[in-house]
Amino acid sequence: MNISNRTVRVRFAPSPTGALHIGGIRTALYNYLLAKKQGGIFILRIEDTDQGRYVAGAEQYILDSLKWCGIEPTEGPTYGGSFGPYRQSERKEMYGKYAQELVEKGLAYVAYDTVEDLEKMRQEYSSESNPSPMYNHITRKGMKNSLTMTAEENEMERQKGTPFVVRMKIDPGMEIAFDDAIRENVVFRSEELDDKILVKADGMPTYHFANVVDDHLMEISHVIRGEEWLSSTAHHVLLYKYFGWEETMPIFAHLPLILKPEGSGKLSKRDGAKFGFPVFPLEWDPKDGTESFVGFRESGFDPRAVVNFLALLGWSPGDDRELMDLEEMVDAFSLEKVGKSGARFDFEKAKWFNQQYIKKTSGEELAGIIRSNIPSVYSDEYVASACNSMKERVFTYNELYTDAKFFYSDDFEIDEAMVDKKWSPKSEGHLSLLIEYLKENNFAESKEAEENTKAFLQERGIGMGEIFPILRLALTGTLKGPDLFQTITILGKTKVIERLEKLMKRMTAR
Ligand code: GLU
Repeated sequence: MNISNRTVRVRFAPSPTGALHIGGIRTALYNYLLAKKQGGIFILRIEDTDQGRYVAGAEQYILDSLKWCGIEPTEGPTYGGSFGPYRQSERKEMYGKYAQELVEKGLAYVAYDTVEDLEKMRQEYSSESNPSPMYNHITRKGMKNSLTMTAEENEMERQKGTPFVVRMKIDPGMEIAFDDAIRENVVFRSEELDDKILVKADGMPTYHFANVVDDHLMEISHVIRGEEWLSSTAHHVLLYKYFGWEETMPIFAHLPLILKPEGSGKLSKRDGAKFGFPVFPLEWDPKDGTESFVGFRESGFDPRAVVNFLALLGWSPGDDRELMDLEEMVDAFSLEKVGKSGARFDFEKAKWFNQQYIKKTSGEELAGIIRSNIPSVYSDEYVASACNSMKERVFTYNELYTDAKFFYSDDFEIDEAMVDKKWSPKSEGHLSLLIEYLKENNFAESKEAEENTKAFLQERGIGMGEIFPILRLALTGTLKGPDLFQTITILGKTKVIERLEKLMKRMTAR
């Protein structure tokens, strides 16, 4: 079968070893975008053959994260599909016959070496130019394996039940070349490669082996993954050759790294804590004393903004568009437009994206999102109006209430130093005039209230700059914040007068 007319089937294949880093989400996203663009299938495969690194809850975290981002698989654990099971631990029995096949073809062999044997070999062959020698075509000759042992010796070890692994036999003199959709022509020499373990002593396949066998069995057309897997691809390509599966070998696409904010080095999960921003989609709290992390969700991000931001971290639609919904991204997506060089993780940019999505959201919707953080005495309409007044100036959903305490409590902090600075001997007179005016007038509608109040002040010769800062400080505690008259309207007459009188009392009592 020719690859170009194959159905596009791509997989996201995380190992459940902890929380899924934002880089993993980007890998999943690019897989998703290609699948949707090509009318293909996006598959989730859980690569859990390394039982020693298995972390409970990690698979659920992966499922929840993809769901939150709106990039759900078509096939996968809990989704089903006709190529399952989709957890490698449940496929254990399937790999044996493939290992057997390679052993029979002389392309893999059995090795009985103990940890001590391996250590001894490393010491023996270690030199300045080769400090950590590999198990390869040279060193294997001195080791305990089916290539160096007679058939009888081999049989004896098997009968004794000596633990063994299956290794891939890689001979020198071969060139392993493939066309990567992003890195273009990639070439390795077989002398550079070690005789990788394919099946471990516990009978479990290694990542490399299970990965290739499953990609073949699941009819994967494109392997889209992080750059850190590029060097492993040499072994993978060779395995396709060993099995005679070259015809259906997937197209490889190795994504550029996501770099630290300063632009050098790979973004790590610790960078979140270091720089004070999330690097995980959702909160991760294993509750066992090991590290916990906040996520973009808990930090008040809209998943659409996170996805938009991540999509452009290494890919471009080919024009200068930045704000794109998933559908537009699908439409514009191609692997050719993924860059080769690393993409810098710029949290300010992530916030900018989030701000754009918040601005586009109605006050009612925003109120729904933050409702559980607001005391229930405040009506939905009130919260919606407060959100409307705040939405132009916040970067996260959380800021809709953390920066707006004055809407939801009388107990907000007042910038006293600023009050002192703005309060003049004339302030008392001005403020009492204004209080009197407000008591007598209704100001249900912001525009009208604004004009009337301004006209009133003007008639009395009171400059806006003299009174508005004080008014703002009394109502919201700072000089920042939403439009003053909008704030007055939302807070309502009683509250506004109460706050002005409170400030007046404090200032005149001094
Ligand atoms: N299990 C590997 C990981 O955790 C998958 C790499 C691949 O996509 O082949 O990233």
